[in-house]
Amino acid sequence: MQVESLRKATHQRTRQINSQLVLRTVFERAPISRAEVARVTGLTRTTVSELVEELMDEGLAREIGRGQSTGGKAPILLEVPPDARLMIGIDVGDTAVNGAIVNLRGEVRHATSVPLEGRDGDRALEQLEAVLDELLTSAQGPLLGVGIGTPGLIDTSTGTVRWAVNLDWRDLPLGSLLQERTGLPVYVANDSQAAALAEFTFGGHASARSMVVVRVGRGVGAGIVLNGQLHQGDGFGAGEIGHTAVADNYRACRCGSTGCLETIASPRALVQRAREVAPHAPESSLHRLVLDGLGFDQLLTAYEAGDELVREIVADAAHQLGRAIGGLVGALNVRHIVLVGEMTRLGEPWLSIVRREAHRSALALLAEDTRIEIGRVEGNQVAVGAAALLMSRELGVSPGA
Ligand SMILES: [Zn+2]
Repeated sequence: MQVESLRKATHQRTRQINSQLVLRTVFERAPISRAEVARVTGLTRTTVSELVEELMDEGLAREIGRGQSTGGKAPILLEVPPDARLMIGIDVGDTAVNGAIVNLRGEVRHATSVPLEGRDGDRALEQLEAVLDELLTSAQGPLLGVGIGTPGLIDTSTGTVRWAVNLDWRDLPLGSLLQERTGLPVYVANDSQAAALAEFTFGGHASARSMVVVRVGRGVGAGIVLNGQLHQGDGFGAGEIGHTAVADNYRACRCGSTGCLETIASPRALVQRAREVAPHAPESSLHRLVLDGLGFDQLLTAYEAGDELVREIVADAAHQLGRAIGGLVGALNVRHIVLVGEMTRLGEPWLSIVRREAHRSALALLAEDTRIEIGRVEGNQVAVGAAALLMSRELGVSPGA
């Protein structure tokens, strides 16, 4: 009897694995025929036909016409409908909780936002729940689950926020709390790690198996994907490069240390630096801008207009970021480095300095093969990436295309 139930369980498990394999193949290679799925997966045509039938019943596959005939009857082609499942992705940002309904191609179908305004602890959690509730009622289609990106050290395997200093969350079982509330699967990741998954999954980098995505916004952090898997490190803090001391400017950082990469390479650091130097440079356009209350937008305009002083400040920031990236190239030998976040608005001139410095500070042979580019994912990368995490865990698909 036991042997029989074990055999049954094994059979079911095999079927589930094969079903995921077929789903992934159709998802990644669509449009594709059943025969081609069988060839790619090594499963028999009969098994593939049965599994495709099931996937079609669940709405996860559909027929989209006939392909080229190779002699006989032209084969029927299959695809996974992009809206077959919808996902909730949430970004717990610095000033707001931003949520989105995302489809299986990473396209944002609906977005919403609730301000945080300095709330932390339970009150921050309430804002997160408000966004979640709104998205649950506005989703028009079957929901796969929820993905959440939040700052801090996150144990993604259990959905626990180990420590998020600005939110004052410590050992918060966020995943299970929200799972109880929604009845849906919930996955939680660090925000930079989520942004990395967005780029890896939906950024069109088909050939990349490994990737480092460096997010340069209010915070500076990297998400590391190695051989298709998110690399979290022993204490969940892999990629926390923003608080590595790089500069001897002794500028105080919000982490309590000084001279962190974040205090020189972030948009906020640029604005601060501009405010300091502008009073000594009456000939610079910065001078007037600072009097008017300078922000990153104005700085960007002055940069594009070719203001010398602004160019210097930006070059310095790009230089330090490039060196930090050179260190990552040396440590990981990952060939795809993608930059995302507000700083990327500085565009190609900034990027070229980052590139040059990264190449200069890494072993020449490694640097030669490394591509550094600006991210391609539209919309909120953290929210979309949290959805990508959900998708890969629940459906086993991760197109990378
Ligand atoms: Zn710091």
